[in-house]
Amino acid sequence: MSDTTAPQTPDLADLIVHLARLGQSTTSTRLTAAQWTALRYFARARRPSRTPSAFSCFHATTRGTASQTVKSLVAMGLLARESHGTDGRSTLLDVTEAGHAMLRMDPLEDLRRVLARLDPDQRAAMGAALRQSVGEMAQLREVPVFGSCVDCIHCDRGPQGVICRKSQNKLDAEEMASFCVEFRPVSLRQ
Ligand code: SF4
Repeated sequence: MSDTTAPQTPDLADLIVHLARLGQSTTSTRLTAAQWTALRYFARARRPSRTPSAFSCFHATTRGTASQTVKSLVAMGLLARESHGTDGRSTLLDVTEAGHAMLRMDPLEDLRRVLARLDPDQRAAMGAALRQSVGEMAQLREVPVFGSCVDCIHCDRGPQGVICRKSQNKLDAEEMASFCVEFRPVSLRQ
């Protein structure tokens, strides 16, 4: 017989999904959760990662679904297509001025404010636990994990500045904070 007086462990998976849904939900915008995710992604992604297929990996969805989301944002004037340059078959997506104006009403800001009020140690522990969980889930689903240079195997900090060993490019602060499809988490080094 189970001990009904023992403290109940919350189901963390349920809590994480519930928090994500609450963070994205609002009655005051005309974008769906998927459209918000796409708009945020294209605002944060490095230039080579601003493709519909990279977004489909990030959003863990099919290319067809990702393309439909992108198409709807282009039709609303929030994203604009530009030629890839090196890959004639692909296009890159840029957030337009209207898209940036929309992002200033991002419902996720409420969640950011709530998380910012946590104790710094709690935030650091939560960040580490979530990064590890995201990495393990991505491996399980066999999809790339997204992240930024700070936690990436290819990031090389030397006397000349920060270099990406993958692209051999020097990285500035803005690039280092961006999402990158080539990201490889440091945790995979072990
Ligand atoms: S260091 Fe990693 S995350 Fe940063 S640009 Fe290079 S591959 Fe991408």
